[in-house]
Amino acid sequence: MTEANEKPGCLSILFPFLNRSQEETTSEELPYRLRDDFLSPAEFSFFKVLSSVVGPQLTIQSKVRLADIFFVARPNENRSYFGKISQKHLDFLVCDSVTMQPVFGVELDDSSHNRNSRHERDEFIESVCKAAGLTLLRIPAQREYDAREIAFRVQPFLKEKATLSTAPSPTQPQPQVQPQTESGNPVSAVPICPKCGIPMVLRTVTRGDHKGKQFYGCKNYPSCREVKPVKV
Ligand SMILES: [Zn+2]
Repeated sequence: MTEANEKPGCLSILFPFLNRSQEETTSEELPYRLRDDFLSPAEFSFFKVLSSVVGPQLTIQSKVRLADIFFVARPNENRSYFGKISQKHLDFLVCDSVTMQPVFGVELDDSSHNRNSRHERDEFIESVCKAAGLTLLRIPAQREYDAREIAFRVQPFLKEKATLSTAPSPTQPQPQVQPQTESGNPVSAVPICPKCGIPMVLRTVTRGDHKGKQFYGCKNYPSCREVKPVKV
């Protein structure tokens, strides 16, 4: 071993950090730190009250990106629509604890709600929720929240839990025309996805008791899990 090789070894005894791999050093140099204000005081205060009123039936998620809640039904025709939801977040998304299906969203309106740019953003988010059939509760941001008032707003979702799985269909107009095959022949047997308004595709069950059985599924799977039976 040459002196040149020994030198770093000796130094590493005195300064153990010299022994760390390049990869470790690089990750240590990244400038990320944990935020101390993940939730603002108003958000945290609301979160605690909401947690106490929804109970174990529902689970609260904070700051959820719209693109993780919604998908664009016909992405090829609506390329610009993904960008509109890729940078925006809902303050809270409340999900069914068993299925984690979204049940309703919450936006806390602080004083910035009245600013023009904010107002536009808020209206857009409201339209997105409406189009996709997700109820959005708007609640004025406060230092403290009245648990009874919040419970009153949330109660319908707890009572009607049994019907939540059949959330209202999107308000998208459903095409009346039958899809055409590439040869131009009508394919009357191909159903239209009720959620996305596009022709469904024939799929085959690959596992379980129904293995080999065919059904129609949505092209947007797994974002859309609509299925229809094959009529024989
Ligand atoms: Zn679909």
